[in-house]
Amino acid sequence: MPVVPLKFRPHQDGLLLFADDAGGYFKSDHAFLRRYACDQLTSGDLAFLHVNGHAYNAVGDLAYSGFEHRFAERLYLPREMDYVILVPTLRCNLACGYCQVSRVNEATPGFDWDDSTVEAVIGFLDSLSARKIKVEFQGGEPLLRLDVIERIRDFCSQRFDACELVICTNVGFHAELSRFFHQEVSHL
Ligand code: SF4
Repeated sequence: MPVVPLKFRPHQDGLLLFADDAGGYFKSDHAFLRRYACDQLTSGDLAFLHVNGHAYNAVGDLAYSGFEHRFAERLYLPREMDYVILVPTLRCNLACGYCQVSRVNEATPGFDWDDSTVEAVIGFLDSLSARKIKVEFQGGEPLLRLDVIERIRDFCSQRFDACELVICTNVGFHAELSRFFHQEVSHL
């Protein structure tokens, strides 16, 4: 049974700490180190290593894939945030039977962003270090708050080098949509 490469270092209690490249670790003794170094691991050693993700039966099996996944996750460096999803309202003009998002009827008060929320979101966007931004508006029906979308658009277009907007709409507001896109084309 292949064992993934293990590094080790002494622990203050006289035992040894072993670690693999995926961040898995365990403590054992010098006798284990000798067996590991001399390729004389016992069936008990191998069972322990296998069940704890340090050994596998074959390339591609579950233990191997799990190790690969943990290793890749450890190497991944998150990039700066450049994609945000905003929900300016939970109100919606439709009531689809399959709806899986939070929504309330169009006339329901108290489910829209107020001015202080818009300002806080603009402040948050201003704090990002990315030079490009993609903003996705969801709802409810986000076109019910076209004024908010326009404020965010106006801010992003002057704050970032490039700004991409996505509006997840049920297309129930054709006039607002065509006016918005007419403005967008005019900006180009
Ligand atoms: S349009 Fe979208 S948000 Fe509105 S009820 Fe239908 S699925 Fe839900």
